[in-house]
Amino acid sequence: MDTSGLARLDRRIADCRACPRLVDWREEVARTRRAAFADWTYWGRPVPGFGPPDARLLIVGLAPAAHGGNRTGRMFTGDRSGDVLYQALYDVGLASQPTSVHAGDGLELYGVRVTSPVHCAPPANKPTPAERDACRPWLVQELHLLRPTVRAALVLGAFGWQAALPAFAEAGWTVPRPRPAFAHGARVTLDAADGPGLHLFGCFHVSQRNTFTGRLTPGMLREVLRTAAGAAGLPVRN
Ligand code: SF4
Repeated sequence: MDTSGLARLDRRIADCRACPRLVDWREEVARTRRAAFADWTYWGRPVPGFGPPDARLLIVGLAPAAHGGNRTGRMFTGDRSGDVLYQALYDVGLASQPTSVHAGDGLELYGVRVTSPVHCAPPANKPTPAERDACRPWLVQELHLLRPTVRAALVLGAFGWQAALPAFAEAGWTVPRPRPAFAHGARVTLDAADGPGLHLFGCFHVSQRNTFTGRLTPGMLREVLRTAAGAAGLPVRN
């Protein structure tokens, strides 16, 4: 068993029941299932972050999908958003394979960790502000544990951006006032009084709404991943 601080945190997150609405929803979805996944035993619990404990680049999404992470137990695994994200990570040399189907499929991330500000699947992919705030301490703890190595963060979408900025501040980086606005291609450097800064990047979320309409293309995603990975000091493939 992995006994690193991050692995211990992940196990504690997976046992969290702090949000009654989300606990009910994630467990109901796990009981009723989607017909296409009728033979699956759904995870039905909070989905911890995924990736090595010494990651230099952190990718921050929104929340697990009901039939994706909530089914497979791994971030962005088993849904269309994850198909797009992991294909791009593989294309730029940051993942061992282009697909992410189930938690035992052998996927490894190279210097990258994927997490979200809300760890339980919400109805209609919309956590409430109270649920977002209830989950923030988990992200703050994850950031504290990653601080020795993490040098860049790529935030997918405006919700993640708004949820993550206070967590970055609580974890010790200085967030400018007024808070920087989310945009695809936004780039901000967060300084820290007692250590290295963090290069923060914004990217449209890899949701089907964005990828099916061409608002976010695979080329755009690869480009921002390469830029963020470069800022983090990770080698990438062109
Ligand atoms: S969303 Fe976060 S705080 Fe709420 S139950 Fe899930 S893990 Fe716990």
